[in-house]
Amino acid sequence: MSARRGLPLVVVGSGVAGLSVALAAAPRPVLVVARGSDGGDSASARAQGGIAAAVGPGDTPMAHAHDTLEAGAHHNDGASVQYLAARAPAAIARLQALGMAFDRDGERLRLGREGGHHADRIVHAGGDASGAALLAALLRTARAAGHIRFREGVQAEALLLRADAVAGIRLCDAHGDTTLVECTEAVLATGGIGALFSATTNPAGADGNGLMLGLAAGAAARDLEFVQFHPTALATGDDGTLPLVTEALRGAGARLCDAHGRSLSAGLHPLGDLAPRDLVARWVWKETCRNGHAWLDATLLGDAWPVRFPTVHAACLAHGLDPARQRIPVVPAAHFHMGGLACDRDGRTGVRGLYAVGEVACNRVHGANRLASNSLLEGLVFGHRLGRRLAEAGALPPVAHGAHRWAERGAAADPQALARLRALLWNAMGPVRDGGTLASALRTLDGDIGMPGGWQRRLAILLLATALQRGASLGAHYRSDAA
Ligand SMILES: Cc1cc2nc3c(=O)[nH]c(=O)nc-3n(C[C@H](O)[C@H](O)[C@H](O)COP(=O)(O)OP(=O)(O)OC[C@H]3O[C@@H](n4cnc5c(N)ncnc54)[C@H](O)[C@@H]3O)c2cc1C
Repeated sequence: MSARRGLPLVVVGSGVAGLSVALAAAPRPVLVVARGSDGGDSASARAQGGIAAAVGPGDTPMAHAHDTLEAGAHHNDGASVQYLAARAPAAIARLQALGMAFDRDGERLRLGREGGHHADRIVHAGGDASGAALLAALLRTARAAGHIRFREGVQAEALLLRADAVAGIRLCDAHGDTTLVECTEAVLATGGIGALFSATTNPAGADGNGLMLGLAAGAAARDLEFVQFHPTALATGDDGTLPLVTEALRGAGARLCDAHGRSLSAGLHPLGDLAPRDLVARWVWKETCRNGHAWLDATLLGDAWPVRFPTVHAACLAHGLDPARQRIPVVPAAHFHMGGLACDRDGRTGVRGLYAVGEVACNRVHGANRLASNSLLEGLVFGHRLGRRLAEAGALPPVAHGAHRWAERGAAADPQALARLRALLWNAMGPVRDGGTLASALRTLDGDIGMPGGWQRRLAILLLATALQRGASLGAHYRSDAA
């Protein structure tokens, strides 16, 4: 069916997932709305390691799918995994066609290795500046595309529903002025929830607000308990967003150790320091509980540091560390949400006209633990798929009858309450969990003892309740009290 012109398709979010939908939805008119400008507040722009794709000699999508399932503790949806791995090489080719310059060794793409991968499979750009390069290529193309308009510096704060179908979206700008955009289809591509934890690699805006908006509209949540903790954030001692120390460093030979230089992984896993992230995060967590942090020794990179890992190099120097000569102090930090709004491979949430894609969505491609560098890929592959489907189907006609209602998150917690909530979530829902601590955190929030309202509190209750309910360990959800 050919696309019909009419009400715009509204895409909330200008990270990799939102932009991929917008580009693929041509020729349908698309309005991209985002809180930041130029994707500056997105996780996508901060991505370091790169994008996983079986493009190396001897590698296959089947092997990529196998590693994805193994990392995900086979909690994944198999068909989504096959689709992701099979479409990865084409996604890389599309980016090259947009002018994205991946790092190369002569004619060939230079491939990195990250945790859980049994092959060199990570394409990257600008050394460890892959996300910035990716977003620059997508934004440049989207701004030049005739079918896409942008409204930046606005927040999607409510969805208008008619007879439980999407009828519009309310945007609020920095001055508090609101606009209603009529639409019959809206795509939530609002990113993850890392900023709800006191130690995170995520930007402050990755706070689960899009997830709460989707839930308010009647979409279902799935797998909320599965939060991935990155093993190596720079231990700055600060509360909040910590600089990431990419796993690609371990792929390049860096080693995790304790204060005496003893390996953290010796004898624990055949892949050593490149075991799946959930395992490595727990080793680092254990050392952090003992000695405040673990160490990453990447001095072997020497003079190659500023060229191969300019982002991490700059972050270390900014904190008074020379990683070519000194070991890097590292701690685990909340990094990625495998759970989210329940949807199918076409991003459908169950609410007519409401779609979810990227980190806010959960089609179970990542299972219980995401394989490294599969999330930019998820945004590219499932964003493209959703955009094409929406272009082929044309705009949904408006619902003509029925009551209107606003779906809203409600008021936000104040900064002090939020800081307490983030500490509480880190303590109860961090890399190592137990029933007693989860139940006590829930009681604190349920009883509202010293925890004034806010939608973040309601989201935290949902997260804690699902983590408490899953009594056994699985993937990134590790229960120290499991039998
Ligand atoms: C430091 C870091 C490094 C990473 N490295 C890698 C890597 O190397 N490889 C990899 O595969 N993955 C990596 N990841 C994970 C990956 O970057 C993210 O999972 C992915 O980019 C998420 O993309 P997204 O489009 O879903 O969300 P985001 O990129 O976070 O974009 C969210 C967008 O939604 C907008 N938004 C949110 N709420 C609203 C609202 N209410 N109204 C309007 N706009 C809103 C924001 O402004 C933003 O534009 C990394 C993550 C971090 C934090």
